[in-house]
Amino acid sequence: MLKKLIPDYYFKSVYDIPFEELYEQGFRLILTDLDNTLISYKQTLPDDDLKALKKRIEDIGFEFILVSNSRKTRVDNFATAYDIPYVKFSTKPLKRGLKKAKNKVAKKKYKNEEILVLGDQLMTDVLGGKRCKYKVALIEAIDKGTDIGPTRFNRKLENFFLKRIKKKYPEEYNKYLREYGGD
Ligand SMILES: [Mg+2]
Repeated sequence: MLKKLIPDYYFKSVYDIPFEELYEQGFRLILTDLDNTLISYKQTLPDDDLKALKKRIEDIGFEFILVSNSRKTRVDNFATAYDIPYVKFSTKPLKRGLKKAKNKVAKKKYKNEEILVLGDQLMTDVLGGKRCKYKVALIEAIDKGTDIGPTRFNRKLENFFLKRIKKKYPEEYNKYLREYGGD
């Protein structure tokens, strides 16, 4: 299980992701988390930068789908304003929400290796993506201070596992998790 918590990429923010390069490498479908990945819990709607990012991603040729564990109406409101297809209450790290995005929401059929998951949490986004055999880019949370309920609990679990990964897989830890772990 420990290995399934190690992402394939780490980026400080979604704006640092080299989407053009990733497309050249063969990725075609982006499944993105919402809270603390695209916006903080304090924000509700996409700003102009985020809208420009979506245009860039889609202009490259990607399909871009939102997959959020939240079941709140803020997800519907955000997705409508952002004009993005979405799956809410996705239950990451269970596979079903991510699979639903791939199999039912996406307009085309994609192979597992063409799919990249973006998210800010090891226990949901990274674990869920890896369990589906998709690649995962871990993004530094926009504002951890705004985490709520279950996410706070997940952060505690995360810290526990980060220490274990650091011990058992120091090379991977240094490459993908050192900054995230705050070392
Ligand atoms: Mg999140």
